[in-house]
Amino acid sequence: METVWGIDLGGTKIEGVILPVGSSEPVYRARIDTEASKGYRHILDRIALLVSTMESASGMKRPTVIGIGTPGAEEPATGLMKNCNTTALNGMPMPRDLAEKLGTRAIVANDANCFALAEATLGAAKGAGVVFGVIMGTGVGGGIVIHGQVLNGGQGIAGEWGHNELIEGGELCYCGKRGCVETVLAGPSLQRFYKSLTGEQKSLKEIVQEADSDSAAKATLERLIDLFGKGLSVVINILDPDVIVLGGGVGNIDLLYTQGVKSVEKYVFNTQLRTKIVKPLLGDSAGVFGAAMLAR
Ligand SMILES: [Zn+2]
Repeated sequence: METVWGIDLGGTKIEGVILPVGSSEPVYRARIDTEASKGYRHILDRIALLVSTMESASGMKRPTVIGIGTPGAEEPATGLMKNCNTTALNGMPMPRDLAEKLGTRAIVANDANCFALAEATLGAAKGAGVVFGVIMGTGVGGGIVIHGQVLNGGQGIAGEWGHNELIEGGELCYCGKRGCVETVLAGPSLQRFYKSLTGEQKSLKEIVQEADSDSAAKATLERLIDLFGKGLSVVINILDPDVIVLGGGVGNIDLLYTQGVKSVEKYVFNTQLRTKIVKPLLGDSAGVFGAAMLAR
C-alpha cells in the first residue's frame, strides 16, 4: 500500500498520521506532547520519536519524504523558520535539521496552508481547481491551493490575508501594523469589540446566541458581516478562487454563509458572486491530513 506521512507540530501537541494515498482513513495516527518549553532541539527529538513510533506501530518503513505542518512558515530565501507562535522555532533551519535527523526530506508548510491543502484534496473543496482556505479563530490566516498544490509564494506569505489592512488607523496588531483583518475578524477581536460597547466580557458563543436580544451582540455581528465581506472581496478580486473554505471558531458562525456571502457579493468586483463559500469537512484532522498531503 502506498502511503503519505504527515506531522502536525503544534504548541502543545505533535500529531502524526499515515494515510493511504487519496484516502482520509488513516492507517495509523498518534499524538504526543510537544514539550515546547524545553527548546528547539527537544522539539526535534520529539518529532523524531513520533516518527520512530509511527514506524514500529505500523510495521512500515518511513518514506523518503514527510510533510510537516508548523505554526509558522519557512522563509524561502534562507530556509529559516519565521512567524511561529511556538517562538523556539523562529530563526531555526528546521526543514534542514529535520531532514538530517529523520533521514528523509521534510516539506514544511504553515498550518493554514495545511488546512487549505487537506480541504482541497480530501475535504469540502475536493476536486476544485483554485481553493482559498481561511482560518478565522484566535488569529486569521489563509492558504492557497492551486490544482492540488500549495502556493507558498516567494516570501512564504501567500494567502496571509489576515494582515491586510482592513481599517485605516485601526487597532494595533501583534505584527506591528494597524487595523489588520486579524484585529477585526478574529474571535478575540470580536469579543474586544463587544466589550468596547458594553464593558462586558462575553464568549463568542454567547455573542452569537444572544444577538436577538442583545443589541450590542447584534452590532458586533453586523460589523463582522460587513467587514468579512470587505476583507474577503479583496482576496477574491485577486485570486478569484472556485471555493473558499472557512475554518476556525469564527468560521463556524452560520450567518457568514448567508448574510456574509451577500456582503462579499456587495464588495466584490462582479455583479454576482459564484465563488462557493463553504464549511470545512475534516474538522480537527485537517492540519495533520494536510501535512501528509504535502508529501504526495
Ligand atoms: Zn497584523
